[in-house]
Amino acid sequence: MIGVFFFVLGSILGSFYLVIGSRLPIHQNVISDRSRCDSCHEVLRWYELIPLLSYIFLLGKCHHCHKKISPLHFVMELCTALLFLIGYLYYDLTISLGIYLVSVSVTLIIFVSDFKYMIILDSPLVIGSILLIILKYFEGGLTNTIIAIIYGICMFILMFLIKLLGDKIYKKESLGGGDIKLCFFIGLILGYPHIGFRMGLISLILSAFLAFPYALASVYLYKKNELPYGPFLIAAAVIVFIFLDKFSRLLSLFSLT
Ligand SMILES: [Zn+2]
Repeated sequence: MIGVFFFVLGSILGSFYLVIGSRLPIHQNVISDRSRCDSCHEVLRWYELIPLLSYIFLLGKCHHCHKKISPLHFVMELCTALLFLIGYLYYDLTISLGIYLVSVSVTLIIFVSDFKYMIILDSPLVIGSILLIILKYFEGGLTNTIIAIIYGICMFILMFLIKLLGDKIYKKESLGGGDIKLCFFIGLILGYPHIGFRMGLISLILSAFLAFPYALASVYLYKKNELPYGPFLIAAAVIVFIFLDKFSRLLSLFSLT
């Protein structure tokens, strides 16, 4: 029953995250602007706005103009629903589930806005950071929360130094400001006293591996020389967070702990 609740909640929020990621960067109102069909711009009615179900019953076509609706809506709702359900099954009703859900939510919004517009929004990072700080406080008390914030600042400074170095090497802007602010958030997610700063570094390395195939494809197939890095950064952080124990055991094998 609770699993179904998280699945439905995820599908509703997934739909909302797509709206945030698509509208905020171009300064459209998230709440007051009604959702419209991308082709005929007809305002959508309530039965066309039910996550997952509307897309299935309308067979992926607009009710008014019968043009195809972007499958991105369905994919986003389904992915968020599944991520929420998997989170609940993996963590049960714990504070770790809260940290996971906040991290996944910010990740999904960044995926949309960074891939669509090459923009990482400040507001999801600020709201996400505040929620994480509160959750960390309830999880490990004040000292652990302060340590997590310090790790966040360290990650921020580290990414800023990488950017300075990159700018020198490539003689142009190598990383956006959004990527650097995002690293503060990542430091918060992964900042635990018993594992120290290493997990942040591992997530940075992992993000480079995740981005590499995409970078190759976009340079050689699409001749693009700019790519969004934020989605890879935060996806790597969430992966490291989920498998935190496995990563720290891996490190201890090399006696790095
Ligand atoms: Zn239409």
